[in-house]
This record gives sequence, structure tokens and C-alpha cells, in this order.
Amino acid sequence: MTVNAAFTFEDPGATAQDAQGGDLTDRIAVEGAVIPYLVGEYTLTYTVADDDGKQAQATRTVTVAPVQLPEVIDPPPKTIYLTFDDGPATFTDRLLDLLKRYDVKATFFIVGRAPGQELIRRAYEEGHSIGVHSYTHEFETIYASEEAFFADFLATEEVIREQTGQYTAIFRFPGGSANTISFFNPGIITRLAKIMEDMGYRYFDWNASAGDAQSNSPADISHYYSVLRSIVKRDGSPTIILQHDPNIFSITALHYFIPWALENGYTFLPLDLTSPIVHATINN
Ligand code: ZN
Repeated sequence: MTVNAAFTFEDPGATAQDAQGGDLTDRIAVEGAVIPYLVGEYTLTYTVADDDGKQAQATRTVTVAPVQLPEVIDPPPKTIYLTFDDGPATFTDRLLDLLKRYDVKATFFIVGRAPGQELIRRAYEEGHSIGVHSYTHEFETIYASEEAFFADFLATEEVIREQTGQYTAIFRFPGGSANTISFFNPGIITRLAKIMEDMGYRYFDWNASAGDAQSNSPADISHYYSVLRSIVKRDGSPTIILQHDPNIFSITALHYFIPWALENGYTFLPLDLTSPIVHATINN
């Protein structure tokens, strides 16, 4: 059988009867295992014996295949993808008001355990994309193992589904895919990047940053406004901007940046599976 790479695999099992038609299914022993998220070929061996000690054996080959992701569609020239990490936060409401005023759609990579989850619903209903960022945002936990990452990811996905009625297929690695904070688990990002894409998810990094990761930054609005103007791609290629919901200065600067960008011919779009892939160089 062939299955798509996924978080879980359910063995359809086997049935067995003795010569008299008695059911021996309960006695079947299974050898081998399928790692459901790792693309490859696996063999399951089912063995059973009747009361006379007669044995029978059958095998099943399970092929775990990658999910086919849709093709990227080139966006119009001068497209900007505003992306906001680590929310919902205190200012997400105001941010949504602002985006609504200019009819600008953006992308929110959310933290599952953050308060104010109803803002996820509002963002979704107003046409923004919602992606997984993390449930705990605690690097030591998330990057401890593949399974730890999955648990954190699935908890966040569930929060998104509760709020929007939909699962999401886009995500952003906590710390970005180029993070070095996961060095304590060598190779984890390299492995996860492949596994997650094989399971039909796509991650997005950024190619421009507002530099607002520190929410207590002393910088003011005009500082962030000039940062935002300077980081958009001047050659017309797509810009994915990283900002953080919790940073009021960076968010407020959008009051100036969005009108400037619209007047200068930029288009704002939310990310989805057909958006241009912006990946940083993985360090781990
Ligand atoms: Zn983050």
C-alpha cells in the first residue's frame, strides 16, 4: 500500500483462520514498523500459528510517499507579504483595524498558548492567512526531537482549527529555519524541513526584517517607518517582511508605511501554498 507522509499511520492489519474456519486473528503478531512521517518503503510481517503449531506468514509493503505541494504562482511585481509572528498580542486588534482600513491582507504566524485567541478568528474572517508558529515558543522543548516539534505544532494547529474551522498548511519555524538556537540537537532543522514538506506543509522565512524582535526596543515609529521603506525589494521581486505583533512601534509604523507602499505601486498579499518560497539557509 502507498500512503502519504503524515503524523500517524494506521496499520490495516490482517485476518487469519485455521483449517476449520476458526478465527485466529487475535493471535497475529506483527513485526516491523512504519515511520509515518519518513518517506520510504517499509515491510510489515504478520505471523500466526494455530493450535497444531502450523504457522502462516504474510507481508505488507508500505510505501510512504511525499504529499505533492501546489506549484508556486508568481505574484505581481512589487508584492509585499506582511507577516506577524508571536501573536495574538495586546496590539493585534489595532493592527487588524489598520489592515482593514487599507484593505490589506497579511499573514499571522501564531503562538498557540498566547491569550486572545479569538483574534485569530477575527484575522481569518477578515481574509488574512493564519500559519503555525509554535505553541510554547520554547526552543529547548520544540527542538528536542522530531516528536517534540510535532506535538508543539499539532497543538498550535488545533488552536487554529478551533478558531477558524480550518487546518493550515503554512508555518514558520520558531527562530526561523536559519536559527542557531537548535544547535543542541544537531541536524534537527534539516530533518524537520524535509519531513514537514513531505507531509504537505510549507514553511516561510523572510527576506526583510523590521528588526523588531525585541518588543521593548527604544526605537520610535519614525525609525521603523524608515526601516520598512528601506527593506522592500526595489527590483520588484517579492518581499516577505518579518514583524512581531507584540511590538507596538513596528505595528504603528504601518500607519505610514502602508499608504506609502500603496502610493508607490506595491501590492499586499497573504501567504499561501502557491506563494513564492522564501527560505533562509539552514544552519542546522
Ligand atoms: Zn517567534
